[in-house]
Amino acid sequence: MAIVDYKQSGGCDVWVLSAGAVRMDGGAMFGVVPRPLWERCYAPDERNRIGLTMNCLLVRGQGEVVLIETGFGGKVTEKMREIYALDESDGLLASLEALHIAPEEITRVVLTHLHQDHAGGCTVQEDSEYVPAFPNAAYYVQKGEWEDAENADGQTVNGYRYDEVMRPLSPVLSLLEGDENICSFVEVVVTPGHTRRHQSVLVHTGEDTFCFVGDLIPTTHHVKPIYVMAYDLYPRQTYLVKQEIMERAVSENWVMVWPHDPDIAWGRLRRDDAGAYEALSLFAD
Ligand SMILES: [Zn+2]
Repeated sequence: MAIVDYKQSGGCDVWVLSAGAVRMDGGAMFGVVPRPLWERCYAPDERNRIGLTMNCLLVRGQGEVVLIETGFGGKVTEKMREIYALDESDGLLASLEALHIAPEEITRVVLTHLHQDHAGGCTVQEDSEYVPAFPNAAYYVQKGEWEDAENADGQTVNGYRYDEVMRPLSPVLSLLEGDENICSFVEVVVTPGHTRRHQSVLVHTGEDTFCFVGDLIPTTHHVKPIYVMAYDLYPRQTYLVKQEIMERAVSENWVMVWPHDPDIAWGRLRRDDAGAYEALSLFAD
């Protein structure tokens, strides 16, 4: 289902939208965690892949329509579509249409980082050209993330789509340098680990703080500090930074939004009696 969840909060409409379903290698998603442990989280298929989603957050309020993340946006080869079992049949643009929100109404698009499963939907093809999918929006990412993507090497290049996504975005992209307020109720905080300048996005509605945590904590199972993806360029930093973020999330009672969790899109965190973090579905209580 493309519209995953909805909450009204502090006069804002807040939706989790799915940009599609994807299958990724279970071992890569859980790094050093042995398969007998991670397969209890998600049952792998015969190719060792686990089923994930690409969640985006849409917030409408205070005269703004802010979109956080965009999924692949269809820019994959047939081979990749098969390898990832990518299903975008009910994608982001279809979700917006179902909500009667035109792409032109989006005022800001915020990206945690530029990997293609997060930033691909920022552009659409018009004739033979790629153009911004949300023509009136300002787009935001950290300057260091842009520079690293622009200077990608053999280890990192496959995560990015330079010609289809980054080049057409460059004229409309605002490059941020550190923690910043993007508008009256949206703030970014740099949360490195997955990439050097990955950022998380905080939305303060007055009633709740939503934290789109990005690939720092891709699913609810990754709240275990040592459950760090093999995709992470700086795994030790992920381990440390995610615990800092989770401390804040618990003490300030944030609503965490998990970008790749197919079962629990968002929820609050708590620590159990043994001190372990636990993710609660938003509507569980
Ligand atoms: Zn990523």
